[in-house]
Amino acid sequence: MLPDTPEQHAILFPRLNEVHLSELRQRGILRRTLASEVLFDRKTERPGIFIVLSGSIELVGEANGQVAVLAELKPGEFTGELTQLSGRRSLVSCRVLEPGEVLEVDRASLREIMQSEATIGNVLLGAFVQRRIYLIANAVGNAVLIGSQHSSDTLRLRSFLVRNGHPYTYIDVDREPDIQSVLDQFAIRFEDVPVLICRGDVVLRSPSNADAAACFDLNAGIDQTDVFDVIVVGAGPAGLAAAVYGASEGLDVLVIEGNAPGGQAGSSSRIENYLGFPLGVSGQELAERAFVQAEKFGAKISIARRARTLECLQPPYRIFLDDANMFKARTVVIATGARYRRLGLEGADRFDGNGVYYGATPLEAAMCKNEEVAIVGGGNSAGQAAVFLASFAKHIHLLVRRPNLSSTMSKYLISRIEATKNISLCTLTIVERLEGDKSLERIRWKALRTQAIERHEIKRLFMMTGGDPNTAWLGDCVALDAKGFVKTGAGVMDGWNLARPPFPLETSVPGIFAIGDARAESIKRVASAVGEGAMSIQFVHQVLATQ
Ligand SMILES: Cc1cc2nc3c(=O)[nH]c(=O)nc-3n(C[C@H](O)[C@H](O)[C@H](O)COP(=O)(O)OP(=O)(O)OC[C@H]3O[C@@H](n4cnc5c(N)ncnc54)[C@H](O)[C@@H]3O)c2cc1C
Repeated sequence: MLPDTPEQHAILFPRLNEVHLSELRQRGILRRTLASEVLFDRKTERPGIFIVLSGSIELVGEANGQVAVLAELKPGEFTGELTQLSGRRSLVSCRVLEPGEVLEVDRASLREIMQSEATIGNVLLGAFVQRRIYLIANAVGNAVLIGSQHSSDTLRLRSFLVRNGHPYTYIDVDREPDIQSVLDQFAIRFEDVPVLICRGDVVLRSPSNADAAACFDLNAGIDQTDVFDVIVVGAGPAGLAAAVYGASEGLDVLVIEGNAPGGQAGSSSRIENYLGFPLGVSGQELAERAFVQAEKFGAKISIARRARTLECLQPPYRIFLDDANMFKARTVVIATGARYRRLGLEGADRFDGNGVYYGATPLEAAMCKNEEVAIVGGGNSAGQAAVFLASFAKHIHLLVRRPNLSSTMSKYLISRIEATKNISLCTLTIVERLEGDKSLERIRWKALRTQAIERHEIKRLFMMTGGDPNTAWLGDCVALDAKGFVKTGAGVMDGWNLARPPFPLETSVPGIFAIGDARAESIKRVASAVGEGAMSIQFVHQVLATQ
């Protein structure tokens, strides 16, 4: 499992030069090391980083049940990975090979260096990101998921781990020939699947995302007694942008995310209209980059915990979570976006994740190989899904209620759909019924022009039909429009009783802002969500200055 070539080793383990080392010596503690001494392992809480000054150390990881040496580090090389930024437990262990000296830099000093010493910070952060990519590619870490391709909970957990950038080994009970011996090893019954084995010995049977987050310590280091300058609720593009701008401008920021970072954008296979990415970027990659950027500046991000209610009588505002925790903040940014509309057909929900999907990422695409697939929707997300899935599936049926795509989809996507031979466009068409026992087996759809019903043996249906706002948790705290989107700015003048007018993104409650898709009259685009995230922080500063 060692990096294949010296060039790969150099990318993963760059060497710090004398200038870097003399700066780091002022921030770290010098330690002598003993042969075979363990500097940290996967149970050590919040380890800092170790820089080898003399002697050598080795990093040891586990993948697919095998323990292996990942790298041997020599003078000038250093340990550390993205977990060091978030304060989570390490994914690998480290022990001394040849005794000598190391410099230990703790997390707080590491964070200061990241923010104040751009040259060293970039070397460290670049290596941390490369190492995480390497760990994911080689499934090195502390998670083993035993699941089935026929289980919606397996898909949920796989998506959760992927979207949190958490490396894991996946064992599919339907494909693994020696599965019984694996199950016996952990005393797991077939019907317990999916099972997540966490940190080597904790066995979680069909865990919720929150259980998985707790076991992997994804929410480590967040102090509940703090009164934050701003709490951002939702870590889609809007919330992540607010976190990056807020933390980089010195605010104490907490982000509360109900699932995993990325929001709707995270379920997009390729975003092609976001500035600066001429070849497009997957929503997952965009979210990962933004997440690392937010953590680099010191934002705290709480994962798999939903905001349940908001208490908004006066600052500090209180946000109660579904796990009964509560956080306080002087200002709040609502960035809870929207969720896909469901089909609304009787019994259709039972196929969620088992034939009916709401995102088209590589995980879902892998299930569609050489199959016929149907996609419902006429917007850009449906168009993207059709073009992306067309290179996996045998045939795609794009079902659209309207007579054409011109008013709802970008021209570049319409042209690609027309040019792709295995996509057929069915306009003026609606889904009538989904059939199947535990998983989807057949779809009936109706041509509105002729009223003719067609029945197709299709086992994968993608719903891409626009969203409803995630605003129920706000109760009657802030004014909403008729569809449940949060009113802001000029829209809240009625009943506004401060001498100053509301800021453009401010809700009916002073100091509480709404951004991105959850906001009434917002443009439902990644770029506008990100722009509103940045703007909201300017207004947060102004409110904080007067509190
Ligand atoms: C498949 C797909 C493809 C798309 N492609 C493009 C494209 O190519 N270009 C483009 O510009 N736009 C595209 N869009 C639209 C774009 O993704 C959205 O406009 C954008 O994601 C909105 O960002 P947001 O942060 O406002 O909300 P969201 O992305 O919806 O994020 C909201 C976040 O809040 C979280 N949340 C919700 N409720 C709670 C709660 N109570 N507590 C805590 N957290 C909560 C959610 O889990 C989610 O992570 C696409 C959308 C989809 C679905």
